[in-house]
Amino acid sequence: MTELLTREEYEAIAASLNLPGNAFIDGSFRPATSGNTFETVNPATGVKLGDVAACAAEDVDFAVSKAREAFEDGRWSRLHPSERKDVLIRFCKVLTRNAHELAVMESLDSGKTIYDCANVDVPETIHCIKWHAELIDKIYDQVAPASDNHIAMIVREPVGVVGLVLPWNFPLLMMAWKIGPALAAGCSLVVKPAAETSLTALRLAELAHEAGVPAGVLNVVTGSGSAVGEPLGRHPDVDMVSFTGSTVTGRRFLHYSADSNLKEVVLEMGGKNPCIVMDDAEYLDSVAEHVVNGAFWNMGENCSAASRLIVHEAIKDDLLARVQAASRQWNVGDPLDPSVRVGALVSKAHFEKVCGYLKEADKGQILMGGKDSGGAFVEPTIVDVGSNDAVLAKEEIFGPVLSVITVSSFDEAIAVANDTEYGLAASIFTSNARRAIRGARAIRAGTVTVNSFGEGDISTPFGGYKQSGFGGRDNSIHAHDQYTQLKTIWIDTSDPADGEVA
Ligand code: NAP
Ligand code: MG
Repeated sequence: MTELLTREEYEAIAASLNLPGNAFIDGSFRPATSGNTFETVNPATGVKLGDVAACAAEDVDFAVSKAREAFEDGRWSRLHPSERKDVLIRFCKVLTRNAHELAVMESLDSGKTIYDCANVDVPETIHCIKWHAELIDKIYDQVAPASDNHIAMIVREPVGVVGLVLPWNFPLLMMAWKIGPALAAGCSLVVKPAAETSLTALRLAELAHEAGVPAGVLNVVTGSGSAVGEPLGRHPDVDMVSFTGSTVTGRRFLHYSADSNLKEVVLEMGGKNPCIVMDDAEYLDSVAEHVVNGAFWNMGENCSAASRLIVHEAIKDDLLARVQAASRQWNVGDPLDPSVRVGALVSKAHFEKVCGYLKEADKGQILMGGKDSGGAFVEPTIVDVGSNDAVLAKEEIFGPVLSVITVSSFDEAIAVANDTEYGLAASIFTSNARRAIRGARAIRAGTVTVNSFGEGDISTPFGGYKQSGFGGRDNSIHAHDQYTQLKTIWIDTSDPADGEVA
């Protein structure tokens, strides 16, 4: 945990921030070719923070051409692995020096709490880049079995120019999950942050350059999904796109690829993640803490949020009383106040969407919350939805709303858990080891945690089954598969002069 500053100290940092606004291409900031800009707003106050370049297809073309130039001349892609490692470790040191500034910038632009930005987003961003950096010169290629007259090499090569399309819920961290392994592999990158949260991506690119990542290797093109994301997805000279966001948008990238150059596509998408609590679960106070953290952390703006509580009828009342008690600790308020656990939703538009879901709930079903707190703030809300067919149990709300579904057996709990088009994450609370393992295997999701809520860590792959994921995994050594491709080099060593035949 980072030592937190006081609210006054964070406010002083906020007042002194120099916010970036221009796109970062080929090692320097530049406005959109059109000169257009859009406003970025602090959702906690509704106050404009600044103007950001509203880029379009011509800016994507320019950034891709610079990324291609950098990739082909080898200024990064062909550096000795240990040199790339040294630069990225230096980058992490620069990030550490700027940690408070980055945490405040992230909080202001997204409404996320400073508590989380300072304790999780910024340190995890640095840890992620460092983890991949340290791996660079420890990955070996392979030599396949072959005859005495052949050498069969299997080598990994960077995939080339990569487009990275990011969501607004963890702007820095999702960027790190992708740029960490992509830079490690030697690729050149064009990053498109979500328009709502572009600031820290720009600052990160500037700091990477300052630390020695060469011009053209890490570019950030700001603007909307249709103006920047789509041209990037359709670009004929982009070799691969890694996307995190909604399933609706992810699906589009497969069309973009099919209609253009068949670029590789990796998608990390939504979830409606189950949290099963069986009647034999132990330590219910601790279970309740996990349930609340799973549902309300990051205002529920979390693709792996445990938004469906599937609870056995025998312990339902007891557990829900404890969950409500634990939820009361999650106070809503000014995100820059380090004691606040629930900040603002990312935008007024998203706030309206979440409020629309709250109207779906029958008054009698709302066990707690259910109201907006003004501005873009929503109280932690618990709804006893009755059936898994309820809209609140089916659709990803991406707000602090926990839907409760009651079951009477373990098999029913597993069936309800799997009754979703998503498959990102799940948790099971039980003291029965057989059930825990059977459940972990039976649930169709990329991550299943037992007796805790979480996502594993940087050393374990993260991604989804079913409509939560496609084509690859973030995190762990497996993330490198996204940004590299395998080449076979088959060498015939026979020498006809010696009468040898291959
Ligand atoms: P989103 O609307 O899908 O946006 C994601 C990114 O795609 C943004 O940069 C967005 O740009 C861009 N985009 C939007 N429309 C596009 C289009 N037609 N063509 C190309 N790009 C386009 O999702 P979001 O609202 O930012 O994020 C919330 C969603 O992300 C949730 O569903 C959540 O579950 C999911 N998510 C998944 C993971 C995971 O790892 N599986 C992690 C975090 C979030 P603009 O926003 O600038 O228009
Ligand atoms: Mg903003």
